[in-house]
Amino acid sequence: MSIATDSIAARVQAVLNEQRLDLRHVSLDIHSHPETAFEETRACATLCGLLISNGFEVRRDVSGMATAFIADAASGEGGPRVAFVCEYDALRGMGHACGHNLIGTASAAAGIALLRALREAGIQGQVRVVGSPAEEGGGGKIPLVADGVFDDCDAALILHPADRTMSVMWALACTHWRWAFTGRAAHAAGDPDKGLNALDAFVHAYTGIAMWRQRLLDGTRVHGFIAEGGTAPNIIPERTSGEFLTRAREAAYLDEMNVHFRAIFEAAAAATGCSLELVQENTYKDLRSNRVLAERGHLHLEEVGLAPEVSAPWARVGSTDVGDVSYACPTIHPEVAIIHEGVSCHTHEFREAAATEHAHDVMLRGAAALALTGADIIADAAIRDAVRTSFAAEPWRRPEWTGSGV
Ligand SMILES: [Zn+2]
Ligand SMILES: [Zn+2]
Repeated sequence: MSIATDSIAARVQAVLNEQRLDLRHVSLDIHSHPETAFEETRACATLCGLLISNGFEVRRDVSGMATAFIADAASGEGGPRVAFVCEYDALRGMGHACGHNLIGTASAAAGIALLRALREAGIQGQVRVVGSPAEEGGGGKIPLVADGVFDDCDAALILHPADRTMSVMWALACTHWRWAFTGRAAHAAGDPDKGLNALDAFVHAYTGIAMWRQRLLDGTRVHGFIAEGGTAPNIIPERTSGEFLTRAREAAYLDEMNVHFRAIFEAAAAATGCSLELVQENTYKDLRSNRVLAERGHLHLEEVGLAPEVSAPWARVGSTDVGDVSYACPTIHPEVAIIHEGVSCHTHEFREAAATEHAHDVMLRGAAALALTGADIIADAAIRDAVRTSFAAEPWRRPEWTGSGV
C-alpha cells in the first residue's frame, strides 16, 4: 500500500463504522421494498437522499431513465475521478434474491467513505456514484455508457454478493430475444391441411438451435422457453411465443452468433409457412476486468479480512451490464460471500441471506475494499498509469487472470 492510501485507510474505516446503522437501514429498506427494472423509485430516492446528506451533488432522471442518477463530489479542485456503481433492482417475482440492496448500499458507502477520507487527508480527487437501474433485464448501464458517464472516469468499481469471495468475476456477453410465430388455426383432425402450425415452426427453430450447438465455441450458451404453445389439442396452434438468450465470451462473437440465430428462426418460418416476429432486445457486453485494478482489489479484500480466491476463468458465469462499463473505462466487479458455498443467487435462500447482519458486515468490508481501491487510483499516479496502460493495451483481448502478481 502506498503512503498516501495508507493514510486514508483508517479514515475510510472510521466513516463506515460511524454510518454503520444508517447504511444498514438503507440496505434493509431497499430489501423490504423490492422494485423491478425501471421502477426502482423508492430505492433511487433513498440512495440519493443518503448521498445528498453526505455532500454529493445529485442529478436524477439521467439518460432517459427516471430511476437513474449521477452523484458527484470532489475533494479540492479537479484530480482523478473514480466511479462507484450502484444497482438496486429486484428480480421479477423473487424480491432481492440477487442482493442488489447490498450492491447499491455498498457503492454509495464506498463513495461516501472515500470522499470524506480524501477531504480529511487533503488529497485532491473526484468521486462519482452512478445509480444504474434494471441490471436484471433492461440494461440501465447501456444508455449511461452511451451518454459518456464513464468516459471521464479513471476507474469504475462495483461488487456483487455471492457464495464465494472472488477478486474477479467473469461474465458472458448476452442478447435477449423475444420471438413469436403466427400461423393459421384449423380443425386439427377435420381440416389439418387448412392450418399453418405455429408450434411446428417453433419446434423447427428449437431443433435448428440444438444442431447449431455443435459448431459453437466453448462457453457459448443458447437457452430459452416457450410461453404460448397452443390453446387446445383439437386446434392447429395459431400462435407460439417466448424468449431466448444467446451468450458468448466475446461481444464480437455474439454479434456473429446473433446473425445465425435470426437465420434459424427465419428458416423455421419459411419451412412452415408461418410469419415470424423476432425482436432483438438489448445486448450486454462481456465483462473485462482490468488486471491491475483487480490486483489492487484483491489486496484490499485481503486487508479487510474477506480472504478472496482467484476464480478459474469462466467458472459459473452469468451476464451483467457492468460488461458495457468495462469496455468504457477500467472496471472491476469482485464478488463477496454472504452465504455458504453452493447457494447461488436467484434463490429464496439467497434473498433471506441478503438481509442478514452477516451480509451487512460483509458488504461494509467490501465497501471498504472498493474505497481503498479507489484511493489507489486517486492518490497513486503510478497505479493510475498502470491501470490506464493495461486498459489501453488489452481493449479487445481479455487478460487471462492467473493470480500472478498478487
Ligand atoms: Zn441477478
Ligand atoms: Zn445481480
